[in-house]
Amino acid sequence: MQDLSPWEDAQKMIAKAGREGVNLVWDRLKDQTPHCTFCEQGLTCSKCVMGPCRINPKGPKKMLGVCGADGDLTVARNFGRFVAAGAAAHSDHGRDLLETLAAIGEGQTTDYGIRDEAKLERICKELGIETQGLTVREQAKALANLFFEDYGCRSHNVAFSSRAPQKRKDVWKRFGCTPRGIDRDCVEMLHRTHMGVDCDPVSICLHASRVALADGWGGSMIATEISDIIFGTPKPVKSLVNLGVLKEDQVNILVHGHSPIVSEMILAAAREPEILAKAKEVGAQGINIAGLCCTGNELLMRQGVPMAGNHLMTELAIVTGAVEMVIVDYQCIMPSLVNVANCYHTKFVSTSDKAKFPGGIHMEFNFKNARE
Ligand code: SF4
Repeated sequence: MQDLSPWEDAQKMIAKAGREGVNLVWDRLKDQTPHCTFCEQGLTCSKCVMGPCRINPKGPKKMLGVCGADGDLTVARNFGRFVAAGAAAHSDHGRDLLETLAAIGEGQTTDYGIRDEAKLERICKELGIETQGLTVREQAKALANLFFEDYGCRSHNVAFSSRAPQKRKDVWKRFGCTPRGIDRDCVEMLHRTHMGVDCDPVSICLHASRVALADGWGGSMIATEISDIIFGTPKPVKSLVNLGVLKEDQVNILVHGHSPIVSEMILAAAREPEILAKAKEVGAQGINIAGLCCTGNELLMRQGVPMAGNHLMTELAIVTGAVEMVIVDYQCIMPSLVNVANCYHTKFVSTSDKAKFPGGIHMEFNFKNARE
């Protein structure tokens, strides 16, 4: 048991799940082991219908896929798509924050606002937006419009690449890696790695660098800065972590995923007297919001909300039997959570049209209906 987790609370819940017949991530890992050696080495390909192919670089047979792709090309193509998927996930999260910033700027939402006006103005100025005479909303709109360009395909480089030292930018230029547009560079990776397009593994790996830079200096940086502008810039806070944050006499609601857009509103709603009164009506002393995974970190660093656990603790939090509801947005949410929740009284609620979970409850959530 100690091999699975160093934490006593996790060890106890793994044992409890075993007694109660609940299937966990470690059980499934055991079932899946040993992994396929070809897959582990990135030597499988299903990018066209002449395959799927398994490449054996040592030969003598199967050294090439049906199209003639060798091991190096196959590994590079798989790696490139791996990078593009990660960059797309980070950056699409950033897009949701960007759309929320634009909605604030255009007066389409009253549920969200600008908590760090100084940072909004500072970043506007940094990126060349003249702020004199602009209201906060007008600044938000102007900044959102500028960042939307970074997602497109017409800019020569993403706006925040201006933050990189000149020496670094020279290296990017030399290797053709300057990030141009978040969507553009991700889409180009899917194109390059399709059958019969870029057949040079080095060229694909260099483009993988460009995709990663488009994420790091584009999507992820935009997501971070806009999160601070809308929800406030984090400061060091003290809080509690792990399963002991769940409270016996309260309604325990866990928020899980990556985006502060949903969790900040859940937290605000849980603090409303009307909602608290409803919890008391059913005999609870209050509503305890706790975080899981990266959504948990978002709430912890800005609001000091306790953190029930990381990615591998998500199933175990439900196994406690103390959780009334898990509310998720997207990313790192194991599909198994629905089954685990169904073993207890826990309701599993998804909120994004990008991330639906059969067997759970889906309630669409966006900046227009956030407080409904
Ligand atoms: S792209 Fe080539 S290696 Fe990949 S599945 Fe098609 S034929 Fe096989």
